[in-house]
Amino acid sequence: MKLEKYSIGVGDRFVHQAKAQLAACMCAERRGVTVVPVWNKSNREHITIGSEPGSTRKAVDAAVRELDWKHSYYVDADHIDLNTVDRFLEPCDFFTIDVASSIGRPPEDGAAEALLGRHPELMDGSRAEALSVARKYLLAVREAGRIYRKIASLKGAGNFVTEVSMDETDAPQTPSELLLILAAIADERIPVQTIAPKFTGRFNKGVDYVGDVAQFEKEFADDVSVITQAVNRYGLPGNLKLSVHSGSDKFSLYAPIRRVITKSNAGVHLKTAGTTWLEELIGLADAGPEGLALAKEIYGAAYDHREELCAPYGAVIDIDPARLPPPDEVRGWNAEQFAGALRHDPKNPLFNPSVRQLLHVGYKIAAKMGERYTDLLDSCEAAISKNVTENLYARHIVPLFLGAA
Ligand SMILES: [Zn+2]
Repeated sequence: MKLEKYSIGVGDRFVHQAKAQLAACMCAERRGVTVVPVWNKSNREHITIGSEPGSTRKAVDAAVRELDWKHSYYVDADHIDLNTVDRFLEPCDFFTIDVASSIGRPPEDGAAEALLGRHPELMDGSRAEALSVARKYLLAVREAGRIYRKIASLKGAGNFVTEVSMDETDAPQTPSELLLILAAIADERIPVQTIAPKFTGRFNKGVDYVGDVAQFEKEFADDVSVITQAVNRYGLPGNLKLSVHSGSDKFSLYAPIRRVITKSNAGVHLKTAGTTWLEELIGLADAGPEGLALAKEIYGAAYDHREELCAPYGAVIDIDPARLPPPDEVRGWNAEQFAGALRHDPKNPLFNPSVRQLLHVGYKIAAKMGERYTDLLDSCEAAISKNVTENLYARHIVPLFLGAA
């Protein structure tokens, strides 16, 4: 199973938008560019919603049949580890092995020295520096090996795509650290097809990149050439590419990433941050009074529970409490005001990134509503799917993969 050059990870929290998301890939297809969809949903999301990974597989297969999509597509066990992988084994064919929590745990004496003995090319700086990098990442890569082998023993090697992710950690990985990580991954015989390092700057959920864009572009280009080196030197899969997590809404990065991958003929996997659910809210607001009322009710509850909702996401959101309008005020908004505050259009003066980020982490509220929420998704499908497709296609796929409006 060989992942294509261009792929986009899409999240569908309430398993209602697979068709609308696939429609965005079909728009690209009509313009001659194949971008294959990967449906990602993490264990945390499944727990919050109370869903099983098999439900994503079912929805995705149905959407592919209905729209007659001719290319590949995947279901991603997103950010799994040895403890959480089990229920993803059957329905998934893409595994994002998350070993960030093992970064920094020191390996046994001599292990880092042995790695450098096998790979003297990793000592382009000082030996002490290379040793400390090896000590930092060696156990994390070995853990990835254990998880990979568990999946392979049950699914059979070659029957799934392997991603290794190290993005959910404090410090970004430099290009030379990435080379060492890839050398260690090759030693573990993990046929990694995508790797998700932590890049420089902030990748907040559902909003644009915060950081030095020129610096990002340079690092991204260096990472791409590290990957080429690693493929040639260590025999890793030839389609190995970078995976950008929390990649949705990083509007200021799409042109730089596109420049780099075009110039180097590289691929990229853009994993979006589950923002499709926000398009559901925008669609509800657009659909009529009943949808708008429910969307406002969700905002009110999210506002009241903002501290507990935000707590697990502290490192990846940046909400200004002073910019959150009280629910009483929002109750008086019309559809245009609600959709305008939420829709990620930086040129619209109504756009409110704090409202957007609060609602992004507020999907728990809708999950608790159960069928009250999902029934309305069904009855407002037309307005919602239009927003879902348009957001994915026009704001993400076009600037990154097609390069023109
Ligand atoms: Zn991630």
